[in-house]
Amino acid sequence: MLEEVRQGVARRVAGGGPRPHLSVVLVGHHPASETYVRHKHRDAEQVGITSSDHRLPETVSTEEVVELVGHLNADPAVSGILVQTPLPPQVATGVALEAVDPARDVDGLHPLNQGRLLRDEEALVACTPAGILRLLDDHQVEIEGRRAVVIGRSTIVGKPVAILLLRRNATVTVCHSRTRELDEISRQADILVAALGRPHFVRPEMVKEGAAVVDVGINPVDGKLRGDVDPAVAEKAGWLSPVPGGVGPMTRAMLMWNTLKAEQLRRP
Ligand code: NAD
Repeated sequence: MLEEVRQGVARRVAGGGPRPHLSVVLVGHHPASETYVRHKHRDAEQVGITSSDHRLPETVSTEEVVELVGHLNADPAVSGILVQTPLPPQVATGVALEAVDPARDVDGLHPLNQGRLLRDEEALVACTPAGILRLLDDHQVEIEGRRAVVIGRSTIVGKPVAILLLRRNATVTVCHSRTRELDEISRQADILVAALGRPHFVRPEMVKEGAAVVDVGINPVDGKLRGDVDPAVAEKAGWLSPVPGGVGPMTRAMLMWNTLKAEQLRRP
């Protein structure tokens, strides 16, 4: 996928178009965020997208974040803007994310893009859910008419992935922390997406033989990363996207895809 983006960027540049640029807003010093952002710059470099960091101190106010985002919105050279979360508690995350120009919202978290997704309109879609659909497609997992179960209903993963599956004509059930008889529901899934943030929650007996299982969870346990799916599920599933691997790298690649897409939509 990164190779596809690299070629798309090269074609635009060869045609005299500007090189896409990704601007990352980073507030304070959050070790995990620093790592994520470093990866994003590395990915960008690999595909020929330029990128920059815009750092603000930990003590910054919501207004100052909004002001910086406003400057980036007004810069014609900026194709994509990403406000790295989590933000410090005094910053209103919703306000900061909503300040991003929807046409440059490469994280797909602006309410306008989320609304467009809901209305089946062209939108920048959040990287993790968009990456999950791409994973299923690349592995020729049939979606139309199949039964999909999503465990988790967050705004970043669970809800948008459910909408994307629905859009592709799956019959979708969304499970969450108050769902009763979850095991029984998950056993009916041809496609099972686990995005709840509970290490090894999905056990083999919760999975239908031959199902496509997408593990979204990233749970640090004793210095190692664990997914939401017990690796023993591999013996029962037809497909299993593992952790680490799978959705994580696909999410990173999708950010590059969205940066190119934002540029293409804004300046066709
Ligand atoms: P979240 O905490 O916002 O949402 C978790 C959801 O799971 C909630 O809707 C909750 O109702 C549900 N849930 C919690 N416990 C449950 C239970 N026992 N049974 C059924 N449902 C339950 O989490 P999120 O932001 O959606 O992230 C979920 C997981 O995915 C986390 O491990 C996160 O680190 C990971 N994640 C990975 C990527 C990636 O790039 N691979 C991206 C985003 C999130």
